[in-house]
Amino acid sequence: MAAAKKDPFWRYDRQIRFKPIGREGQQAIARASVVVVGCGALGAVAADMLVRMGVGRTAIIDRDIVELHNLHRQPVFTERDLQEGRPKAVAAEAALKAANSEVQVEGIVEDFNYRSAVRLCRGADLIVDGTDNFETRLLINDVALEMGIPWFYGGAIGADGLVKAVVPGKTSCFRCLIEDIPDPGDTPTCETVGVIAPAPHIVASLQVSLALRALTGDELDGNLLVVNAWKPAIRSVAVPQLDGCPACVKGERRFLSGEEAGIATVLCGSKMVQVLPPGGLKMEIDLDALAAALEGLGKVSRLRFYLMFDDGSLKLMVFPDGRCLVKGTDDAARARAAVARYLGG
Ligand SMILES: [Zn+2]
Repeated sequence: MAAAKKDPFWRYDRQIRFKPIGREGQQAIARASVVVVGCGALGAVAADMLVRMGVGRTAIIDRDIVELHNLHRQPVFTERDLQEGRPKAVAAEAALKAANSEVQVEGIVEDFNYRSAVRLCRGADLIVDGTDNFETRLLINDVALEMGIPWFYGGAIGADGLVKAVVPGKTSCFRCLIEDIPDPGDTPTCETVGVIAPAPHIVASLQVSLALRALTGDELDGNLLVVNAWKPAIRSVAVPQLDGCPACVKGERRFLSGEEAGIATVLCGSKMVQVLPPGGLKMEIDLDALAAALEGLGKVSRLRFYLMFDDGSLKLMVFPDGRCLVKGTDDAARARAAVARYLGG
């Protein structure tokens, strides 16, 4: 026991005993920096595993607040997070630091967009996709190709899931699979068809499994794993590089350049729209002054991480960087109009 106590890797003993990892693999894991983009079910499951298995630095990027309808499938979060109105990244950081105090865990409450993507991915060895929309995934694809960082796509809707590794220079990319964003209403969402917890749990497990192989030097293919969590089955489908793929063959970065970026984004899973300020983020809004300005126009609550304004039909959550979540509508134009009305711009 004395020897075991001195060994800094003792807590990972059962993982090290797994031959494809071994001590050398564990050292590589300990040196690694992984960015998890989005902390819904996929991101929460993935981040939980990455932190526990000893990844040196795990950054969790999410812009949203914990909500009641998240709790049925998203581990890490609790009813207390909900009562305190905690941002997901803050709640995840606290929970995961308690799970493993020997590694670095960083919750970042920020929107992952074309302006912030490069900065947020700097220094990362891998990126894990925990997002819920094609636009952000195409942006991850651009930034990963541009910076030469392998990333792991994951998606879960209903009981179905999809997983794919993208290793720049080695495999096909996400755009080889999906050339353009499907039109709104063309694809099911977790709001329209629901989602059961096992689906994202299986998908995130496979993403982490592939990430672990990449970290320990294993060669990956770019196959699409097609999963069903209701009548469990996994299929592996080859994804060849698309002839003339704009992203990985031609080197276009239409999503990273901002050409394809939307100012208002309808968020999956709730009647909510995110509106970004036209002048860009990091405007350092004075929430106290804003709270005073909005007094009398509706119900104003100054919470720790944001300001909540309820005009009777819509709720606006305003963050210090100028970002606004508009609750109560899935109409982007209506949300933009409300932000313009109350916040200007
Ligand atoms: Zn491609």
